[in-house]
Parts: sequence; structure tokens; C-alpha cells
Amino acid sequence: MRHAVISADPSPGGMFRRWPFFQRLLSWTKPYAPEERGSRYYERYDWNSLIGDEDRLRAIQPGLMDGTSYFPARAEMEASLATFAREAGLQIRYGCRWTGTRREGDGFVLETTAGEYRCRVPVFAFGMAEPWKPDIPGLDVVPHYADTRAPETYAGRRIFIIGKEVSAFELANGFLPWAKQIVLGSPRPVALSVVTKSLVGVRARYVQPYEDHILGGGVVLVNATIDEVVRTPAGFRVRTMRSDGGGPLVFEVDDVIATTGFTPPIGDLPTLGAQTSGRTKIPALTPLFESIGLPGAYMAGTVTQGAPGLKKHGMPSSSGAVHGHRYNARILARHLAQTYFGIDPVRPQLKADAVLPYLLAEVTRAPELWHQKSYLARTILVDGSRGIIDDGILPLQLFVDSGGPDGVAVTVEANPAGDIYPAVYIRKDNAIIEHLLPSNPLLDFETAEHRKQLADALGPLGL
Ligand SMILES: Cc1cc2nc3c(=O)[nH]c(=O)nc-3n(C[C@H](O)[C@H](O)[C@H](O)COP(=O)(O)OP(=O)(O)OC[C@H]3O[C@@H](n4cnc5c(N)ncnc54)[C@H](O)[C@@H]3O)c2cc1C
Repeated sequence: MRHAVISADPSPGGMFRRWPFFQRLLSWTKPYAPEERGSRYYERYDWNSLIGDEDRLRAIQPGLMDGTSYFPARAEMEASLATFAREAGLQIRYGCRWTGTRREGDGFVLETTAGEYRCRVPVFAFGMAEPWKPDIPGLDVVPHYADTRAPETYAGRRIFIIGKEVSAFELANGFLPWAKQIVLGSPRPVALSVVTKSLVGVRARYVQPYEDHILGGGVVLVNATIDEVVRTPAGFRVRTMRSDGGGPLVFEVDDVIATTGFTPPIGDLPTLGAQTSGRTKIPALTPLFESIGLPGAYMAGTVTQGAPGLKKHGMPSSSGAVHGHRYNARILARHLAQTYFGIDPVRPQLKADAVLPYLLAEVTRAPELWHQKSYLARTILVDGSRGIIDDGILPLQLFVDSGGPDGVAVTVEANPAGDIYPAVYIRKDNAIIEHLLPSNPLLDFETAEHRKQLADALGPLGL
């Protein structure tokens, strides 16, 4: 399978060549973990390394960290990505920008600053790092997160941050030692991941401004619509309207920063039919990351959040971050190899009595299932002619929504109460039966009770 990789950047690292602004990630890597570093199970504790099949490509991130934090510094993440690219021998053409797209025959032509590339299957991994601002009067003159200046230039200043999501709190946290006052304003109250018991909301790592606010330390969180931002001789005037009906509030500040989000640089794909969703125009994708509206074009990286999955209990996937989308990429590679290049991956056969312990080990330790809860599943097919087949890690939605041979898919799920437990989906004669196994205080799903309940669930499959 021949392929070419192009990037507009001059070197590896993508968005991590610049951000997070305060130079430390929010995704962790534990150099010392319950599983052996470099094993597949260790990936559960290392959210940041890219994943390769060869041992030398595994667990690169922890070897590049200096022990001061389990959140890698931005430069350590950049080094990890560069090391992976070098060690894997990736052939990447840097400084080459994709500028246009045409369909030709059963493939595509990609126009770039270095000429045209013809391909059967394009995979777009253009990230989601273009600044996005809502249509609010005066916001056009307000710097975006992407334009934040060096922290010391905010010393002694009053800063209004528009937004109350992760990037707002990252900046507020970094400004605590510098700013005279920090106001965070947006219509809705802040959501905290430790309260939603999920990745939804501001991560614990950036919660300090919230504590400062509730203890009256000087940070102000205000729930209000931003009606207008006006430049004044001294700085900015921000006119807001309180969401609780409390009327208008006006802020005179030295600086305003819009932490209003990012959008993908999707180029001309919408004109070719690619559908997008939401205000930030995330590409709409099938469960196997193919563009809805532009068949034959696929996406990888953070934009795979455009394949939402089942969203059980309203929980989103982790596809926006490395620990989620690295597994989507592997699934996509396998799908493209099978569909377009006739390469069928090895799918091991299992003995009937091996299925139950294997599935319990997977729900207890598999990094794909822990990082992509209710989204990716270990899938076993029971196929009359081929026997019992380990069909690998696949999107749960694919197993549940599309017909196929009898089989079982197991995943790890979480609910709003914060319980984490295995879920088992049995497909028999194209009907799906769902079984939720119990949670466990030590997250050990290999107990006698789990064995018994899984055995009962597998009964209809004769396993
Ligand atoms: C402020 C911020 C902080 C974040 N922090 C974290 C974190 O701590 N941990 C985490 O896991 N995730 C984090 N994320 C999410 C993060 O963006 C992704 O996990 C990761 O960077 C996505 O990788 P990617 O390859 O999809 O995109 P990117 O890293 O954005 O890479 C996209 C690449 O596409 C190239 N490109 C774009 N357009 C073109 C074009 N027209 N032609 C050629 N090349 C092009 C770009 O030059 C770039 O090299 C953060 C996101 C933001 C915005």
C-alpha cells in the first residue's frame, strides 16, 4: 500500500509545536504504572505516546519526561511526536500545504503548494486549531486564545476572558500570578469534569481559578451573554446581560481574550459535499471515519470526534484527544487496507473456553476500551464456517447498528454517577441484547461474579 504524507508545518508536532499556551498538557503519562512500561496494557496510563506495533515505537513519552509533573511539558510532547516520526521512519513532506481537491475517476487529486498528488483514498488529519469566534459585535477586534501575549505582559492588568471551557481556564490558571483581576464570562455556568464525572467540563488540572472564585480571592465567574465589546482609550468595555435575569453588567478591563473555540481548516471539502456539524463545523463522519457527503474521503486525528458513536448517557468519545484518536487511526488503517487494498489483517481464532477469560481481561485492562468508553469494543464473531474469530477492536456502534454474524462486543462504560463497569453486547440472529456487568471498587472485572454473569450472557452464543 503506497502512501504519501504531507504537512504544512516545517517539523513534526502539529498543534503541540505551539500549544497549550502555558506549556503543559492536560493529558497525563505515568512513568510508573501498574502495568509494565511498553506493554499494550500500559497505554491506559500513558495518554500521550503514539502507538506502534513494534516495541521500539511504544511508550516513547515517559522516557522524555523529567519527573516534575505527570503532565508532559509541551516541548516534551513535541519531542515525543518527533521521536516517533524519526524512529518509525515516516516519510513526511513538510512545508507542503494542501490547497484544493478534485475528484478524478475513482480517486482524488489533492492540489498542494508543491504540485498535485493523485490518490485513491485521501485521509485528512488537518486538526482543529483554527481560531473561531462567535458573531458578537466588537469581537473581531478582540484577540483569540491563539493571540495571547507572553504572560508577563499581563502583569497588574484586569483581564476579561470570554468563555468558561478548558482553554479559558488554562489561561486563567496561568494568569493567576500575573493578573490584577480575572473575569471569566459566558452564558452558562462552568462544568467541572470532577462534577460531571467524565471528560466533559474543565479538567481538574485547571480548576484553581474556580476555587479562587468560590473563596472570594478575586477571580470572578459570571454567567452572562456577551452583548458587545468596545475599545476604549484605556482598554475595553464589555457589555453583558446576566443569564439569571439579574440585568446588565458592564466591565471596564485592560485586556479581553476570546477563548471561544477552534475550527478545522476544512478547505474546499464542503463544496465537494462534505457535511459538517455544529457551529465549529466539525466534519460529519461515519463510524469508520468516512466523510458523510464525500464518500471515499476519510479523516484522522482530533476531527474524528465528528464520528460521535452511541453517546450513552450523553458522554462524548475521547476522540478529540490523543489517547482517543490514536486508536481510531489504527481502526481506520485496517479498514482502508481491507476495503481498498485487499489486505485482510490477521484475525486469530479462539477456542470456546478461552473467550470468557479473554473478554474479562480485556474489560479490565485494554487501553482502547478504557480510553474510549462505550465507543470502542473488543469484538468476537461466532461464524459457522470460520469458528470463533477475534475481530479486533472496532467501533461499538458498528457492531450494534450493522448486521453480521453472531458475536459479542465488550466495552467499558461509565454513567453520570461515576460508576465504571463492563458492558456486553450479544448479537444473535441480528438482534442485540445488552448486559451490564457490576462495577467493582478496585476496577477488577475478573471476579467470580463477573465470570458468572458473563458466562450467562454468552450462553445464547454457545460459548
Ligand atoms: C489549546 C489546545 C490544547 C490541547 N491540549 C491537548 C492535550 O493536552 N492533550 C491532548 O491529547 N489533546 C489536546 N488537544 C487536542 C489536540 O488538538 C489533539 O489531541 C491533537 O493535537 C490533534 O492532532 P491532529 O494531528 O489531529 O491535529 P494537529 O496537531 O492540529 O495537526 C494538524 C496538522 O495538519 C496540518 N495542516 C492543517 N491544514 C493543512 C493544509 N491545508 N495542508 C497541509 N497541512 C495542513 C497542520 O500544519 C498540522 O501539522 C488540545 C487542543 C487545543 C486546541
